[in-house]
Amino acid sequence: MLMDLGTATASWLGHLLGKAGQWLGAPPPDRYERITEYRSNPILARMRLSGIVFGNVVLYSVDDPAVRVPRYDRQGCIGLREHEWAHVAQYQGWGALFWVKYLAAEVARPFSVSRVNRYEMQADDSCRKWV
Ligand SMILES: [Zn+2]
Repeated sequence: MLMDLGTATASWLGHLLGKAGQWLGAPPPDRYERITEYRSNPILARMRLSGIVFGNVVLYSVDDPAVRVPRYDRQGCIGLREHEWAHVAQYQGWGALFWVKYLAAEVARPFSVSRVNRYEMQADDSCRKWV
């Protein structure tokens, strides 16, 4: 399937951040079909983020993306990679515009029942749950 222009633009941003991380000592990326993963990214570590997605590119501050992290609602744990790959799916058809949807959900967050961004909740819900 042809990648839409928005996803390509978002991915390009991810690759840029990933390459910058490599210049700062991070290992080369790993590829899983259409997804590219950059591990041990020092820029993300500085921003106190465990993972972030730009189109088909996933960046991690951690070395092992299989690590388990708490769900946003603190109801158990999920695999970080599974969570981030769910965001890759959320980008499809929206590309860079996904950020607009995500930020709108972030604005609505304090007024929602769960107080969690709906795209984060959706990503968590799509993961296997570990207690
Ligand atoms: Zn997330």
